[in-house]
Amino acid sequence: MLDGSIEELESRSLARIAAAADAAELESARVEALGRKGWLGQFSKEMGRLSPEERKRLGQLLNGARERLEAALEARQRQDAAAALEARLAGEWLDVTLPAPGPRRGHLHPITRIQRELEALFSSLGFAVLDGPEVETEYHNFDALNIPRDHPARDMQDTFWLEGGNLLRTHTSPVQVRGMERLGPPLRMIAPGRAFRNESVDASHEHTFYQLEGMMVDREVSVAHLLYFMKTLLAAIFGREVTVRLRPGYFPFVEPGFELDVQCLICGGVGCAVCKQSGWVELLPCGLVNPNVLRMSGIDPEQWNGFAFGLGLTRLAMMRYGIDDIRHLQGGDLRFLEQF
Ligand SMILES: [Zn+2]
Repeated sequence: MLDGSIEELESRSLARIAAAADAAELESARVEALGRKGWLGQFSKEMGRLSPEERKRLGQLLNGARERLEAALEARQRQDAAAALEARLAGEWLDVTLPAPGPRRGHLHPITRIQRELEALFSSLGFAVLDGPEVETEYHNFDALNIPRDHPARDMQDTFWLEGGNLLRTHTSPVQVRGMERLGPPLRMIAPGRAFRNESVDASHEHTFYQLEGMMVDREVSVAHLLYFMKTLLAAIFGREVTVRLRPGYFPFVEPGFELDVQCLICGGVGCAVCKQSGWVELLPCGLVNPNVLRMSGIDPEQWNGFAFGLGLTRLAMMRYGIDDIRHLQGGDLRFLEQF
C-alpha cells in the first residue's frame, strides 16, 4: 500500500518540477516533497512504528524517491540558469568592434561659416582678403572715410572711445583705408571682421557684430560693375538668382550712394510679413567711392575710381538660418550652436 502511494506522490512531484513556470513554483514543488513538512518527511516519521524489515524496505523506497527528486530539481535548476544566462547574453549583446566614443566633434560658428564662404567666393573673383586692427585711430575710422567732424556716428552714444583718442572700430571700413594706402590702385579687396557700437543690446542690436566690406578701385569702374558683383555675391549667398534694385542712399564715403534691396525671397515680391508687404528687403549699402576718400588715401580720382559695399555678416547669418534674436549668436549657449 505504501509502495503505491510513494510512487504516486513521486510522479506527481516530478510532474510539478517539470511543469514549474518559474522559480517560485519550482520552490513550492521542492518544499512539498523534500521540505521539512514534505511528504518524504511524513513517511519517515511513520518508520518508527514498523518492523525492522519493513522499515528497511520503506527506507530504500524513500531514499530512491528522494534521490530521483533531488536529481530532477537540480537538472531543472541548471536548465533554468542556462536559459537565464542565454537570455541575458542575447539582451546585453555589445559590439566590441565599434569605435570608442572619444571627444565630441565641434563645428564652425554660423557666422564663421558664412565669412569663410564669402572669402572663398571673393578670392575666386580676384579680391584680396585683408585684416586690420580692432582698435583704430579716429583718422582711419572717420576722417579718411570723409565722415565729418560733427557726424552723429562719432558721438559717445555710438562709439566706444578709448583713452588717448583711439576707439573700437565702428565698421571694417578703416581696413579699406589701410588697404588703399598700402596696396595702391588698381585693387580689389574685402575686409571681414568684428565691429563695435555702443548700443543697448536687444533682440536686433548687439554691441559687437560682424561685417564684410569690400572695395574695387580701377579705371572706369561703373555702377554696372557694382551691380554685377553684388548679384554674383547674392546668388552665391542664397544659392539662386536674385532680383535687386538700387535706391539712392547717403553715406559719406560714397558718391553716388545706394541702398541695395533684394526682392523678397520668401514671397517672391508679392508681399509678406518678412518684407513688411513691400516685396523688397533692404540688404546692403553700396556706391561709388567718394573722390575725397580716394584722394585722402593717396589715389588720384582723376585717373581711378571704384565701388564699395558693406555687408552685415551677423544679419546675413540671421536671415539664412532664420535666427530671430541677435543675442543668441554670441551667447555661448551650446544648445543653440549645436543646431547648425
Ligand atoms: Zn516678402
